[in-house]
Amino acid sequence: MCGPGERKCPVLEGAMAAAWSRPAGLNVHTFISDISFGQGFLDPLPSGEPFSAPSPLRDWGSLAHLPSVLCGASVLIHGTVGKGTDITYGLRRLGALRPRDSISQLVTQKFREVTMDLTPMHARHKAVAGIVMTQGLDARQAQVVALSSGTKCISGEHLSDQGLVVNDCHAEVVARRAFLHFLYTQLELHLSKRREDSERSIFVRLKEGGYRLRENILFHLYVSTSPCGDARLHSPHEITTDLHSSKHLVRKFRGHLRTKIESGEGTVPVRGPSAVQTWDGVLLGEQLITMSCTDKIARWNVLGLQGALLSHFVEPVYLQSIVVGSLHHTGHLARVLSHRMEGVGQLPASYRHNRPLLSGVSDAEARQPGKSPPFSVNWVVGSVDLEIVNTTTGRRSCGGPSRLCKHVLSARWARLYGRLSTRTPSPGDTPSMYCEAKLGAHTYQSVKQQLFKAFQKAGLGTWVRKPPEQQQFLLTL
Ligand SMILES: [Zn+2]
Repeated sequence: MCGPGERKCPVLEGAMAAAWSRPAGLNVHTFISDISFGQGFLDPLPSGEPFSAPSPLRDWGSLAHLPSVLCGASVLIHGTVGKGTDITYGLRRLGALRPRDSISQLVTQKFREVTMDLTPMHARHKAVAGIVMTQGLDARQAQVVALSSGTKCISGEHLSDQGLVVNDCHAEVVARRAFLHFLYTQLELHLSKRREDSERSIFVRLKEGGYRLRENILFHLYVSTSPCGDARLHSPHEITTDLHSSKHLVRKFRGHLRTKIESGEGTVPVRGPSAVQTWDGVLLGEQLITMSCTDKIARWNVLGLQGALLSHFVEPVYLQSIVVGSLHHTGHLARVLSHRMEGVGQLPASYRHNRPLLSGVSDAEARQPGKSPPFSVNWVVGSVDLEIVNTTTGRRSCGGPSRLCKHVLSARWARLYGRLSTRTPSPGDTPSMYCEAKLGAHTYQSVKQQLFKAFQKAGLGTWVRKPPEQQQFLLTL
C-alpha cells in the first residue's frame, strides 16, 4: 500500500512525516500500523511493508497541518529504522488526540465499574491489566473480556502439587488466565446441540479438525504499567529522539531473560544453565523463581495466549496490540517483546512470530503510592462474580482454589477432550495426568523448545521452569 512504487497513502505519509524527524532516505519498515477515524478504523496496513520517509521532513509543529481527516483520529505507527532503532514517536502525540474509546480507557473504566462494590482495601491496586476483543479494528465493537490487578507472586511454601494455586498474580499474567477462562467458555458453546449456541462462539469449527477464531476477531492487551523485567528496567521515562545515544548505553544484560524474585517486586537476570527448580529445594526455603512478565509476553508472541492445553483444540491466539500505561517506551517494548525472538526461525503452520502493535497512553494513570496490596482481583466477561486471590497463598481468601488455577482450568479441558474436535487426531486414551495433557500438544511443545533455544542462542539466558512435580496431578472431571 505505502511501499515504494505502490499507491501512496497520504494519511500515513503525513503521520510518518510528523513522526519522523530524521534525514530522508532511510528505510522504515512498518510492522503493523493502523489508523482510526472517528468511530471506526481503517484496514490495518500490511505488516512489514517498506516505507520511505517522505522529504522534506516536518517537525512536530506540522501536526496542526496534517490532513483534516486526521483530526480526532489516533494514529499508531511502530517500526524500526536500520538495525532496530525505533520509529514510534508519532504514536503518543497523535494518539493523544483521541483518548476516548481507546483500549486503555475501556479497561480502566471497566475495572472501576466492576470493583465499585469492593471495600477500598480490595479495590486498591498498583497494576491493572485487561484484554479487549474487537471485531476488526472497529472501536464500536470493542468489549473487555478479561480484567485483573496484582503485582505479586505466591510464596514458595504454598506451591501446590494438585494445581490448586495461582503462582503468579502479576496483573498481565492473571489477565491471560482470565482470558483462558473466557476461551473455555467460548469452546463450551460448541458442546451444545443447539446451533445458535455454537454460532455465538468466537470459534468456528474447521473441516480438518479443531477450531479457529472467527474472521476479524482481534485481541488487545492493556497493562497500566510497563511489564516487569527488561521492558520496565531499560525503559527510559522520556522518549529520546536521538538515534545514536542508545548505542552508548550500558548493554550488559540488555534484553536478557529475567525472573521475579519471591516476595519482592523486582527482577534479576536468569542465572546459570539450570532451567529447572526443585520441589524439595523450594520447600526448604530456596527462592521460588518465576519468569518476568516481559518474558512471558514475549513468549505469547510466539506460542500464542492459549497455552498448551487449549492448543489441542484451537489455533494459536495472538495479540493484535499491546497498550502500556506508565513507564513505557514503545521502541524498547518492541525490542524486548518481539525483536528479541528474531532467531526463532521457521514455525509450523498456524504459528507465527507475532509483532503486535505497541502503544503508550498519553494520559497514563499516575503511579499509585504506598505498598502493593497482597491481593489480585480477576473478572471475566459473562461471569458476574469478581474473584479476589490472596497473592501469598495463590488461593481465594476463604482458602478455596481460584477459578484460574491449573486444577480448575484443566478440569474444564478434560470435560471437552473427547467431545470436541481436536486439531490433530487424538492418539486414543484421554490423558490421566495434567503433564501428559500438556505434553500431548506436540506442535506447541516443539515451538516452545524452538523459542527457548532462540533465547539461548541469542545469549539471553535459559528459561527457568517450575518444579515438574507441580504438573504431576491427576486430571479430574
Ligand atoms: Zn510482572
